[in-house]
Amino acid sequence: MNKKVAVVTGGAGFLGSHLCDRLLSENIKVICLDNLLTGRLENIEHLFGNENFQFIKLDVTNFIHVPSRVDYVLHFASPASPIDYLKLPIQTLKVGSLGTHKALGLAKEKEAKFLLASTSEVYGDPLIHPQREDYWGNVNPVGPRGVYDEAKRFAEAITMAYNRYHKLDTRIARIFNTYGPRMRLDDGRALPTFFSQALKGEDITVYGDGKQTRSFCYVSDLIDGIFKLLMSDETSPVNIGNPEEITIEDFAKEVVRITKSKSKIVYQDLPVDDPKIRQPDISKAKAVLNWAPEISRAEGFRKTLNYFAKMIA
Ligand code: UDP
Repeated sequence: MNKKVAVVTGGAGFLGSHLCDRLLSENIKVICLDNLLTGRLENIEHLFGNENFQFIKLDVTNFIHVPSRVDYVLHFASPASPIDYLKLPIQTLKVGSLGTHKALGLAKEKEAKFLLASTSEVYGDPLIHPQREDYWGNVNPVGPRGVYDEAKRFAEAITMAYNRYHKLDTRIARIFNTYGPRMRLDDGRALPTFFSQALKGEDITVYGDGKQTRSFCYVSDLIDGIFKLLMSDETSPVNIGNPEEITIEDFAKEVVRITKSKSKIVYQDLPVDDPKIRQPDISKAKAVLNWAPEISRAEGFRKTLNYFAKMIA
């Protein structure tokens, strides 16, 4: 039988590249599209030479042409860390809107299954806790984070429109904070920033009073959830994340402890519209996908520390 073919947009990014690895390990051919705006060739260079892998440098906000048969389109292209999308606001809006439209158009043309990488940011600064998929969110459309949040909310809306109007087979994953090897040390997110500061002995910059919470998922768990969602029949959004919640201040202390660093914690201004709490309710993923994360924060941090230590050396 012919192998299935998947197109991964943003395939040279942190999550996209891990997804390419997983699809290839499932015996699926991968066509990776990326304009390398925030993605990096280093993330996929181990795949060059694999006959089932193809890389095309392409901006998916323009028309996407793929000559071969395609069975799956997984749309992961987007700047995804707050400093990236603050630096690239228009590109972020374009890839979430025009890029999602083009990726959906490709899936429709090829009669392929489509999966959208959405985000916990659709919940904004949430007023319910933990966040369930039926919560509509509390997003400021005109704040600095609005460029990402609203682009992803539009992306979900157009995905559902293609599902209802064109009968396209679609999936929506709402991805919560994820970490692991291949994160950029300079992407500005708390996790790589704290590890990098701790390893270099610099001050650890906690924003605000550090009482805001996040829930961090190890990348292999996240990718497993995405793959199970792709293979399921669930068309409504599904949260994928690790519900183990921690305040940013405690998280900073944890990083200092496990890196045995002498760094001190310093407090800086909280960015505008920074969500105060965030934790996925994963009952739906458990029930529908039979998925739950398996890697504890302690184990995930150990694996990630090795990676960051190598990058800094
Ligand atoms: N944060 C921080 N110090 C940093 C970077 C981020 O205290 O150097 C905080 C940030 O304000 C937020 C949390 O850590 O409350 C997580 O931020 P991140 O950028 O990782 O992603 P977010 O979950 O906000 O998208």
